[in-house]
Amino acid sequence: MKTPCLGQDIPKLGFGLMRLPTLGPTGPAAAIDVEQVMAMTDRFMEQGFTYFDTAYVYGNGNSEMAARDALVRRYPRNSFQLADKMPMGLAKTQADLRPLLETSLARTEAGYFDFYLLHALDQEKYKHSEAIGAWDFLHQIKDEGLIRHAGFSFHDTPEVLDEILTARPEVEFVQLQINYADWEDENSQAQSKRCYEVARRHNKPIVIMEPVKGGFLADMNQEVMKLFKAARPNDSAAAWALRYAASLDGLITVLSGMSNLEQMEDNLATMSSFIAFTDDDRLVIDQVMDVLKNIPVIGCTDCKYCLDGCPQQINIPGIFSLANDYKVYGNITGSRNAYRWVTGRGGKASDCIECRACEQTCPQHLEIVDLLKEAAAILE
Ligand code: SF4
Ligand code: SF4
Repeated sequence: MKTPCLGQDIPKLGFGLMRLPTLGPTGPAAAIDVEQVMAMTDRFMEQGFTYFDTAYVYGNGNSEMAARDALVRRYPRNSFQLADKMPMGLAKTQADLRPLLETSLARTEAGYFDFYLLHALDQEKYKHSEAIGAWDFLHQIKDEGLIRHAGFSFHDTPEVLDEILTARPEVEFVQLQINYADWEDENSQAQSKRCYEVARRHNKPIVIMEPVKGGFLADMNQEVMKLFKAARPNDSAAAWALRYAASLDGLITVLSGMSNLEQMEDNLATMSSFIAFTDDDRLVIDQVMDVLKNIPVIGCTDCKYCLDGCPQQINIPGIFSLANDYKVYGNITGSRNAYRWVTGRGGKASDCIECRACEQTCPQHLEIVDLLKEAAAILE
């Protein structure tokens, strides 16, 4: 008899609890509008969807507590799956791991997590996870019944993904950034297609994150919308992005970070009567990508050569990538929100002191100082 694949019975839309509606001013620790999250949770469950995804760091713990109030305290524990994540940046030593998990369990009151992930592994965090025994810890807490399935979310190259999955065959699933705009884009950090292929080669079921590219693909320019509406008049841009992701094989679910009831209704309409991508749909996406590729952008290849010599520790390629996202998708709110994250650990574009050390190392001969001024004008 064929062994059932992990997650095959889970409906293919997951509620990502990272961008929940807030009360008053937004910000990393803004108070969440729990009443609205309850209404969203009720609509989601009513329509037969059951997968929820939070993390220790989302909203400084407010997301985990919203999951408790809207979901865990109001629905039988076996009627939904809850995913949570170990914050690898805060786990400095092995002794930190258990208190961090226990904090997540206490905040959510979930008793156990159906899916538990090492959060946002890249090469550096993967090495750190090995050094502090994070994988032994996952085995231990699984034996103790505190988690059901162990995996990781991922933000690096396909080569690093292959390295981790080869070294850690016990990994049960991976969470990857996949969307149509990054599918074949070699310059994109996500490299969706190649990471997807690596995970499939290792037989790992996949949770898709950012199918709408952090909201960028929900708000497209008029030329793109004309193409979408000509093919499917009733579908939103977000619906195209969700259907593209959810049509892939080997999925546990596709997360959507819904921020209000309206977005939830749009996602539910798409996924409740899901229609898999057709060959005609793929042709439309090819046309959309042609439109997007013809928009002039900064020719930064993300080689990172400029980073070492910058006295202001400005994340130059990260800032250029966001400036490009803005040029292509025109989503100012999404770009400015992402800018706060990208510049969180270093200088902003406007901190540049024009020493031009970066320009001397840039193989693309970019006029970085001027481009940073442009980026600051848009993003700050
Ligand atoms: S010119 Fe600006 S961005 Fe370039 S190295 Fe100097 S401070 Fe950094
Ligand atoms: S050196 Fe030039 S191409 Fe490379 S990351 Fe920096 S700005 Fe981009």
